[in-house]
Amino acid sequence: MISMSTICAVSTPLAEGGLAVIRMSGSKALEYAGKLFRPFGGKAVSDMPGYTCAYGKVIDPDSGETVDDAVLTVFRAPASYTGEDTAEISCHGGIYIAKRILRLCLRCGCDQADRGEFTKRAFLNGKLSLTQAESVMDMISARGEYSLRSARLTREGRLAGRIDGIKQKLVTLLGELAAWVDYPEEDLPAVEDTALRSSLSEAASELSRILKDYDCGMVLRTGIDTVIAGKPNVGKSTLMNTLLGYERSIVTEAAGTTRDVIEETARLGELELRLSDTAGLRETEDRVEKLGVSLAKKRISECALVIAVFDTSCELDPEDRELLALLRELGKKHIIVLNKSDLGAAADRSEFEGTGARILELSAKNGEGLAELTEAVSELFGADTYDADSTVFANERQKRCAEKAYDKLTEALGAAELGETLDAVTVLIDSAVGDLMELTGEKATEAVVDEVFSKFCVGK
Ligand code: GDP
Repeated sequence: MISMSTICAVSTPLAEGGLAVIRMSGSKALEYAGKLFRPFGGKAVSDMPGYTCAYGKVIDPDSGETVDDAVLTVFRAPASYTGEDTAEISCHGGIYIAKRILRLCLRCGCDQADRGEFTKRAFLNGKLSLTQAESVMDMISARGEYSLRSARLTREGRLAGRIDGIKQKLVTLLGELAAWVDYPEEDLPAVEDTALRSSLSEAASELSRILKDYDCGMVLRTGIDTVIAGKPNVGKSTLMNTLLGYERSIVTEAAGTTRDVIEETARLGELELRLSDTAGLRETEDRVEKLGVSLAKKRISECALVIAVFDTSCELDPEDRELLALLRELGKKHIIVLNKSDLGAAADRSEFEGTGARILELSAKNGEGLAELTEAVSELFGADTYDADSTVFANERQKRCAEKAYDKLTEALGAAELGETLDAVTVLIDSAVGDLMELTGEKATEAVVDEVFSKFCVGK
């Protein structure tokens, strides 16, 4: 175990509540706890076994004054969250009391814990993998059942286990390759070309499965960043209001009145859409509207889903075509909504074909076609077939590591197919293993580890 200073923090929110918990962790945690806590039974804190608690009083070691009645819970290394000796004082949940006890801990010799430092120590002491540590933060910030469930599964080590399985296969393969390259005269069985390729493609496809689930899992956890795009007056605000279920944007007959990008959240079946209703794409001399237009283009290039709205009761004009061209160019996930279906269709449907998107007729005004829109979005993001129990990455960091590994495995596969030297293939597999080890934290650099924990709250 790495020896470090003893740290302390208030682990509960700094607000009035039933209880507050002050946590100390490190080799001197129990010694310091003994200075400021007196069990009523007369027992010494230093004699308390792990996983026991005592009712007693918190005292100011300098003045002997009683600060609060509290419960002390003792955990002994390595059987604690951090893997170190840990003392937790549960006191009355007042902001002043909690801060006062924290100051006493500092005075006894503790250092103030940094963000996520308890969990960082758990990671450094081998209690958690980096992915498990990250899921702790995800559990804390979970806002719904999907997020909590996937964070819990990661916390249970499913992701690390699955990644480890892939890594082990690659390491075995590397062993065989190394033996073959280094000792060609030893008459070792050759690494069969087909066996090499099938191992590589197996590992790559396992990674690609996890990567695919990630996008859907992310969408279920955080919602879809959605832009409703279209020229003025096609019914964007009306659609947005219908989706939101209430009047939010200003709807008027005059073209070009929705100038600002307004953001709201709407629930569509299982999915949450983070909606923004943007101005049309028209180039204009009006400064206010021009801002809206350039924002619209920017938003489209950044969002995850575009609901492209057209007025089906009119023929398409250059502005509509400009939007279609932009969608083709950006390759964004999008759905084409032919709005005002209640007025009858004048637009030529064939103009919309070729972007590969679902084309839906809809009336934003009376809500007809909304069920089809819900279904189309769900299908587009794979939510209709998503298995909530699958293991997914918790964040972009993990995803990027997996993507890097995937790219290298695909490259290695290509190299093997082209009959390149085993050396070249070995280098690529080795580097992919490195990426997977960065993912689980086995080989993460200090900077990566620091970055991960800097996103935590103090006290966790
Ligand atoms: P935006 O400029 O694209 O945001 O368009 P608005 O939502 O402001 O709508 C422009 C006009 O079209 C308003 O008068 C709406 O009432 C009307 N409108 C919007 N959707 C529909 C629809 O589905 N059917 C009909 N008949 N009118 C609609």
